[in-house]
Amino acid sequence: MSLKLEDSLGLIYQEVLKRNPGEPEFHQAAIEVFESLNPVMAKHPEIAKKKILQRICEPERQIIFRVPWVDDRGEIQVNRGFRVQFNSALGPYKGGIRFHPSVNLSVIKFLGFEQIFKNSLTGLPIGGGKGGSDFDPKGKSDNEIMRFCQSFMTELYRHIGEHTDVPAGDIGVGAREIGYMFGQYKRITNRYESGVFTGKGVAWGGSLARKEATGYGTVFFAQEMLKARGDSLDGKTVIVSGSGNVAIYAIEKAITYGAKVIACSDSSGYIVDENGLDLDLIKRLKEVEYARIEKYAEQVKHAKFYKEGSIWSVPCDVALPCATQNELNAKDAEMLVKNGCKTVAEGANMPCTPDAIRILQAAKTSYGPGKAANAGGVATSALEMQQNASRDSWSHDYTEARLQDIMINIHKTCYETAAEYGCPGDYVMGANIAGFLRVSNAIDAMGV
Ligand code: GLU
Repeated sequence: MSLKLEDSLGLIYQEVLKRNPGEPEFHQAAIEVFESLNPVMAKHPEIAKKKILQRICEPERQIIFRVPWVDDRGEIQVNRGFRVQFNSALGPYKGGIRFHPSVNLSVIKFLGFEQIFKNSLTGLPIGGGKGGSDFDPKGKSDNEIMRFCQSFMTELYRHIGEHTDVPAGDIGVGAREIGYMFGQYKRITNRYESGVFTGKGVAWGGSLARKEATGYGTVFFAQEMLKARGDSLDGKTVIVSGSGNVAIYAIEKAITYGAKVIACSDSSGYIVDENGLDLDLIKRLKEVEYARIEKYAEQVKHAKFYKEGSIWSVPCDVALPCATQNELNAKDAEMLVKNGCKTVAEGANMPCTPDAIRILQAAKTSYGPGKAANAGGVATSALEMQQNASRDSWSHDYTEARLQDIMINIHKTCYETAAEYGCPGDYVMGANIAGFLRVSNAIDAMGV
């Protein structure tokens, strides 16, 4: 990991390493922010004096708990649950819950840390947090999922609330899981507290356009990145990794902007359809049948399925990594650059490795980091909270228009901040600095 940090930042980073051993994902997320802050520390010496960065790096509260449940064979299973309430300077902790076997404290802390700055960039009143479990939903029955969610919530309910901490979905957690968790919260507390969760079903307090929001938002952001260079998505060849909620709606919006999306993936491999992906088929396979993406190539004869290799070897103009962290490495970035890709916008959280980011930026490929480009999901969660607070529900079009405005604004903020701090076009600098300053000012205003 490069340490091109000035002394004061280098020392703070060393402290983070020492205090949080064995947490590589958290270290990665932290150094990426630290590397952007040199010009901020120089311009605002009070930040170092008041130890604002040290205060941001230490979560306000970390909860780790046991989640026992009974599987369909009657056997007892034990998983571990997490909720990291990272920072509440801007509002109640806000961030998703991830169910995936790779979940551990480091992963939740990296996600929670990113969430602080992402949520800050939205301009909305939400703090940063994240939760999850190492529970693997793959292959579990509906009843097992329900029992797991109920057990998870039997502990978590005491730590959350509409003014305290508002979870939502993430990998492995969608409207079904949120329904089971919200149901358990309501049962235990005897309160219909809609605002305690976002990403709820539309019929019971959820927001229209929330399901689509992360993917749509990423494409709105990518379109702004292209516009800033006098270009647009129209006629571009796009590849999207993943085929979950984020990927599907990124594909949908990119198509409506006139792009041709030719590849997507899941954990079993990737498909390429040079004629442009059939989105209805992908939705049916992934949202209804929960099938492997390989099935696409069984049904569309000219499409190809690749079990091995990397989706990033497919030539494209625009790449949207929408699967998971560290899915796009240095070699992948080199292939993208070599094949002429000019724009990368992250729908997932931290999908590009630090080396990959360096390669993209050195090649002048415009790179939009997740904390800016995928903020549409959590922004629309904040709109869901507004609807819940006023016991209202907005139309799809109105909500989507608000989302689009927010993404245009995030882009503008990142773009202008990068220019102001002497690195025009560098969205990493712009996002980290702008996100940091808003939180930092709030922390300062509230005293120690
Ligand atoms: N999990 C999403 C994210 O990474 C959404 C969080 C939320 O809506 O609270 O931002």
